[in-house]
Amino acid sequence: MTNWTAVTEELARWTDLDRRCPLWLRDDDAVAASRQLDELLTRCANAGIPLGLAVIPADAEPSLAEALADHAHVTPLVHGWSHTDHAAPGRKKCEFGPERPPETRQAEAERGLSTLRGLFGDRVLPLFVPPWNRMAPDMPSCLSASGYRAVSAFGPSPAPRDGIAWINTHLDLIDWRGSRSAVPLDGLLDLLCRELRDRREGRRIPAEPIGLLTHHRVHDAAIWDLLDRLLDRLADHPAVEWLAIASLGIASLGRPAPKTD
Ligand SMILES: [Zn+2]
Repeated sequence: MTNWTAVTEELARWTDLDRRCPLWLRDDDAVAASRQLDELLTRCANAGIPLGLAVIPADAEPSLAEALADHAHVTPLVHGWSHTDHAAPGRKKCEFGPERPPETRQAEAERGLSTLRGLFGDRVLPLFVPPWNRMAPDMPSCLSASGYRAVSAFGPSPAPRDGIAWINTHLDLIDWRGSRSAVPLDGLLDLLCRELRDRREGRRIPAEPIGLLTHHRVHDAAIWDLLDRLLDRLADHPAVEWLAIASLGIASLGRPAPKTD
C-alpha cells in the first residue's frame, strides 16, 4: 500500500469536476547521444508524453541532434551556457548569479540560445533553464533582451514579468543531498498530492503545470524504476493533461496582455 491511494482519490476529484491537471516532464544536462538518453526517449515515446530536454549549449554535440531527429515530442531547452559554477566561495552553486556583471551573463545566455539554434534549428524553445535552478534577480530582464520568452526553475512559478513567463518543475526524482538515488515514492506522492490539491482548491493557479524533474545521465535502476511507476499511473490518466511545451505559444506567453480599450 502506497500513497497512490491518496493521489488516485485526488485525481478522481478532478475528474468529478470535469477538470484536467497539466503535467510536464523536464530532463536536465543533456549533451550527447548515450544509452541513458535512449532509455529516456524510449520511455517518453512508449508513454506517449512530450519531453522538455534542457541541453548544456557549450557541451552539446551533433550526436544529440541526431538522437532527437526521430523524436518529435522532445523539445530542446537552453540549460545555461556551460553549467559552470561562478558563485562566491561558500555560496550555493550558480552559473548566472550576481557575482558576474549582467552584460556578461546576458551575452552568455544569448550565446546559449544561438548555439542550440545552430544545432536544432527552430525546435529550440526560447526557454532558459538556469543550472542548479537559480539565477540573479535581474536575469529575467537580461533574458528578455537576449530573445528568451520563458524560464523554468524549481518550486512555485512566479508571475510573468519582464516579458518572461515561468514554467517551473516541482517534483525532483533524485535525492541529491542524501542517497543521490531515487527519492522515496511515498514522499514524492505526498508532494504530488499537495500540488494537485493546492491547484484544485485555488491556493495555486490551476493552470500552472506540475513539473517532474529528471537527470538521465545519473539515473540508476531505482530512479528509472521510480519514473516508470509514475508514468505507468499518470501517462494516460484521464484527469492529467501532459503539456506539449512546444505548442505552448511561448513566444506570446511572456508578452503583456493586449490592451482591450
Ligand atoms: Zn543542470
